[in-house]
Amino acid sequence: MTVIPPGSIIGILGAGQLGRMTALAAARLGYKVHVFAPESMDSSCGQVVAHHTQAGWHDLRALARFADDVDVITLEWENVPTYAVDFLARHVGVHPGSNVLSVAQDRVAEKNFANKLGIGTAPFRAVRTLDALKQAVAEIGLPAILKSTRMGYDGKGQLRLNPGDDLTGAFDAIGSDEAILEGFVDFEREISVVTARRADGTILSYPPVENCHKSGILDTTTVPAAIPAAVAAEAVRVAERMAEELHVVGLLAVEMFVTRDGRVLVNEMAPRPHNSGHWTLDFAETSQFEQLVRAVCGLPLGAVGVIAPCVMTNLIGDDVDSWASILSEPRARLHLYGKGEARPGRKMGHVTRPR
Ligand code: AMP
Repeated sequence: MTVIPPGSIIGILGAGQLGRMTALAAARLGYKVHVFAPESMDSSCGQVVAHHTQAGWHDLRALARFADDVDVITLEWENVPTYAVDFLARHVGVHPGSNVLSVAQDRVAEKNFANKLGIGTAPFRAVRTLDALKQAVAEIGLPAILKSTRMGYDGKGQLRLNPGDDLTGAFDAIGSDEAILEGFVDFEREISVVTARRADGTILSYPPVENCHKSGILDTTTVPAAIPAAVAAEAVRVAERMAEELHVVGLLAVEMFVTRDGRVLVNEMAPRPHNSGHWTLDFAETSQFEQLVRAVCGLPLGAVGVIAPCVMTNLIGDDVDSWASILSEPRARLHLYGKGEARPGRKMGHVTRPR
């Protein structure tokens, strides 16, 4: 396994808050960071790094220069086009690789992948036409959720279908000819596991945490999840099995539903730091961002224990205006992402509090 020592340059694809927090963790270990993204220098990540390439994913010259400048590459956004990642990987190690991205970018591929490993998901059908939607509704039943197969996040590109709803209108509204119909899971709770894996196969997972969403966006993460030990062990097994099968180097975050009868079903996965892992910055022995740096650089993985039970709350849109009162709580740990405009639905920061 190649070790990329401190002092080297880590390339990060994508320039959002996940890149920002990864860059800060990298700096703490003595690495330099070069970010590549279409966004400007003033992006959340661009603000905290010394080197920044602003270019499109199709700009092969810029990608080649970037690859020459860095010692290893990771990413904070799983929708980086796989052709760009394949191009970069001809010059320098890119972790995770495009084999992982091609599964994580496509909800149908993701669910097929899980099912092939014997891991449960909601029942689903790929839907490319209105007729296929009608057929899928007949087979899966309602309520169900219609989602665009690609590029959906934070509840965007999805809508719930109830009995009697107009399917034609729903199909038009989703605005994609690559959609997926998922049976509605009447879950008891939502949990996630962040797993770290190195190139030599060493693997380590944070304990499952419980997530509550508001309007499809993560609102709070409660640590640890209040689930029986057997369910927690199954959730970790599922995440690690998926990471191993995909040969992930870096992080794999897996979001899951726990059903009322205690089954664990995979909802989706992301091969990068995850919002539900932000608590690790202040309340885990090693943060997920440092763990990512350790994993992609071939360093020993850090311990993943919970220092204290806690709740992470996202600051969405103008929630961020409460920064002053949060700072007046002595034990609240505030993180702001340096984003300009507090648009509705935009993740501006988060706060983690012991509980
Ligand atoms: P996603 O973008 O797939 O993570 O969906 C956002 C949120 O919508 C999830 O975290 C769940 O709260 C809810 N959701 C998504 N898919 C389903 C489903 N098949 N059944 C029930 N709730 C779902």
